[in-house]
Amino acid sequence: MAQDNSMLDGTIASVDAAVRSLGLEDDMREVLVEPWREIQVGLPVRMDDGNVRVFRGYRSQHNAARGPYKGGIRYHPNVDLSHTRALGMLMTWKTALADVPFGGAKGGVSVNPRELSMGELNRLTRRYTMSIHHVIGVNRDIPAPDLGTSAQTMAWIMDAYGSINGHTPGIVTGKPIELGGSLGRAEAPGRGAAMVACRAIVDSGSSPEQNTVAIQGFGAVGSSAARTMFDNGAKVIAVSDIDGAIINTSGLDIPALQRIVIEGGTVSDYTDADALNHEDLLSLDCDVLIPAAIEDVITAQNAAGVRSKFIVEAANRPVTSAADEILVDANRIVIPDILANAGGVVASYFEWAQNIQVFNWDLERVNRELDRKMNEAYDITKAKADRNDVSLREAAFDVAVSRVAEAIKLRGYVG
Ligand code: GLU
Repeated sequence: MAQDNSMLDGTIASVDAAVRSLGLEDDMREVLVEPWREIQVGLPVRMDDGNVRVFRGYRSQHNAARGPYKGGIRYHPNVDLSHTRALGMLMTWKTALADVPFGGAKGGVSVNPRELSMGELNRLTRRYTMSIHHVIGVNRDIPAPDLGTSAQTMAWIMDAYGSINGHTPGIVTGKPIELGGSLGRAEAPGRGAAMVACRAIVDSGSSPEQNTVAIQGFGAVGSSAARTMFDNGAKVIAVSDIDGAIINTSGLDIPALQRIVIEGGTVSDYTDADALNHEDLLSLDCDVLIPAAIEDVITAQNAAGVRSKFIVEAANRPVTSAADEILVDANRIVIPDILANAGGVVASYFEWAQNIQVFNWDLERVNRELDRKMNEAYDITKAKADRNDVSLREAAFDVAVSRVAEAIKLRGYVG
């Protein structure tokens, strides 16, 4: 799929720019770009109607120089090997920038999970787990939720993996709290994205209270980003989900909207707002735009229409490389995904550490440590961007790539 290759090409282009700016050798560039291991599996699943459907599953383990592979599992029709590879590579840079002791990986199944029953999803997830169980492990590769998967999916993986290896809660993160999940993990990607957005707002001489916000996506990431922006005093004026978009220029009541969605509703069920076109949300007259849904939504075609000063990549790679150039040239501040949405994997690290220690942290500790990690990642990125007069994306990749290259050298990985 063309859009998938653009994501892989764009990610590699960011690595190449870092390789040049850091003066790394060509040999090192190859080791940094090539995935270290990949697996593709056929997944026959008995559907509720009695027929068998064979799904395609993937796990791309990009790099484990800094620790076990780490990254989510995506259930989406766009999933293929190239797409999974691009997302796995992004995880390597994200874990390095956040300075958590992991490498990067991503997995997925090409499926629209909305079309499957819970029973079908359970059987598909077990089959996928059985097909990749020999390449994952607490010290090998630790999956987590991503688009189209959830805490429930992680519970099924933990159960299937445990049926072979014995009870192993640290095999996945983003689990239900009842099964060893961490308090604060579900909210962490959105909380982290909002936190770095607020840091950038303050650095530009403004304050969250003076800023209006539009958010594309009101799932796990978008809704907690909305909530944290709201709690910090920003005015969230527009949000969307897969079924619709809404706007109220006086500000949306985000806690009320969250209650509607938790009870099974959609953002369109919120009555104190007008309906909005999905596409129009991206070009709204507002200060902060948070794409929190899927990749490739701000492209060369629509980037010039984006009016927000801050674009916060809460989703993975929502801004294409061509769009990024247009936005940076127009003096917009793009907070790159490997920084903006690192909160998820940072909290995953805390969950994994809690599982290994068999000792649970309270929410206050999770949020305090999360805020510290996010602030450190923001600080080092911003300082580098200012020092080298480059974009936040270039600075973030410089920091991440140099950390991974250093680990590869110290290991003597290339003999
Ligand atoms: N899927 C999330 C991401 O893209 C979380 C990964 C994890 O926690 O391992 O960052």
